[in-house]
Amino acid sequence: MANQKEYIRNRADSNISKIIIDRDLCIGAASCIAVSGSTFELDNENKAVVIGADTADDETLKMAAESCPTKAILLFDKEGKQVYP
Ligand code: SF4
Repeated sequence: MANQKEYIRNRADSNISKIIIDRDLCIGAASCIAVSGSTFELDNENKAVVIGADTADDETLKMAAESCPTKAILLFDKEGKQVYP
């Protein structure tokens, strides 16, 4: 099974309700952190973790996911539909 970690998002003005980080895909490039340092951080295995699921607006979160070179950040809407990538 894929090594994926799920983070629930509860922001009222957001259409994104879940962030998944695929830890197998993450190479610790940290571009997600450069875009949204309040959302992402590297853990002691050099893999991204979500430290603040609700801090960024949808646009910033999408930009952070798009910045990931390995597409390790997956975004889902309220209906559970994958909206990125
Ligand atoms: S940009 Fe992608 S590969 Fe880099 S730390 Fe973030 S999730 Fe991992």
